[in-house]
Amino acid sequence: MKTVAIATLGCKTNQFETATMIEQFRNAGYSMVAFTEAADIYVINSCTVTARTDAETRRLIRRARRLNPEARIVATGCYAQVAPDELSRMPEVDVVLGNREKLDSMLVAGAVENRVGNIDTETELSPLQLTSFAEHTRAFLQVQNGCNSFCSYCIVPFARGRSRSVAPGEVLDGIRRLVENGFREVVLTGIHLGAYGLDLSPADSLEGLIRRILDATELPRLRIGSVDPNEFSDSLITLCASSPAICHHFHIPLQSGCDSVLQRMGRPYDSAYFQELMEKIITVMPHAFIGSDIIAGFPGETDQEFEATCSLIEALPLADLHVFPYSKRPRTEAANMPGHLQPFVVNQRAARLRLIAKNKNETFLAGAVGREIRVLGQQVDETTGIVRGISREYIQAEFPGSPADLNVERTVLVTALHNGRALCQHETEVNTQKPGA
Ligand code: SF4
Repeated sequence: MKTVAIATLGCKTNQFETATMIEQFRNAGYSMVAFTEAADIYVINSCTVTARTDAETRRLIRRARRLNPEARIVATGCYAQVAPDELSRMPEVDVVLGNREKLDSMLVAGAVENRVGNIDTETELSPLQLTSFAEHTRAFLQVQNGCNSFCSYCIVPFARGRSRSVAPGEVLDGIRRLVENGFREVVLTGIHLGAYGLDLSPADSLEGLIRRILDATELPRLRIGSVDPNEFSDSLITLCASSPAICHHFHIPLQSGCDSVLQRMGRPYDSAYFQELMEKIITVMPHAFIGSDIIAGFPGETDQEFEATCSLIEALPLADLHVFPYSKRPRTEAANMPGHLQPFVVNQRAARLRLIAKNKNETFLAGAVGREIRVLGQQVDETTGIVRGISREYIQAEFPGSPADLNVERTVLVTALHNGRALCQHETEVNTQKPGA
């Protein structure tokens, strides 16, 4: 039986597509092995959000060739989509496939020449059938792909094409299939999730989709992927606060806390709007985990602008931050903007923001001590009986238990913290049926 190894970089959507490739290969009779092992076929599902992910992609390609000089090496994903020639020039690479082509296992296994289609012509998004996922308790489900926003620093629209959505009926089928296969939680993912449904006829919305999922499926836990601030409406906040199934964990990219920088980024909101949004969410969901993205060292960012970002973030009820040192991307507007900063300045600012992020996360976790949380058991240590899992507000937690706690949601009391993990005491079992079923 031929063996396949896949390395995946980047976002939940890329991870979801890898899960789909794995399912296709297994159905075609291949066996999956770890990327550290010798394999007949290596697939590198790349990301190109930063120059660093490009470099990591090239490193993984060279590593694959060293692991098996005879192997077939396929470079795909967003880096392959925007720079196929760059990867094709690498002697280690056998074939380069685009983001659409990677979803055809026949091409991945057998294409003899590069196949990178024009992703901008993609107008429809058919659901990718998935019944299994790396984790056996939570599954990602891609409901949207592409982006029409063209924020000035972002290469994603060039790699992913125009925004397109899976039809709501097919999303519901996808969720029912995952629930039938024992998944207790589904994470809705997309490249620009907040734009869900705008391309459909009749048009729909992310909120509309979520309401259908709550009404028409037995899913106990629904987690929403990254949603842009201007797309997190008051009615969506109310829905999240009132629904027992929606996890109070949100990721809302800010990118900068300074209005003049936000304008240069082409982001459609200002710092006051973002601050007000955070307050609205925390008022009705006081224990919500809100994460965000921030770019350090955007071209022309002055010391004052950076200080404005730091003081805004300090004031926000955020539980975590993904900090991205600005990375010049080809084809983007910002690449040609004046005032690109020295790398040491960018790294200095990123380090400062990461420290702020660490403090915010510690403050958030400290606030959970003495509180009950609901944890979905994901792993159990057979020797110690310690169960590890994740709470609805995205807290990594552990408690004394047994294999009977796997894939079951338990209410546990947080008694202490250790290495960013909540140590908990067992309270009661929460029924794993859909709340109110
Ligand atoms: S919304 Fe902006 S940052 Fe997000 S994927 Fe689209 S262009 Fe990139």
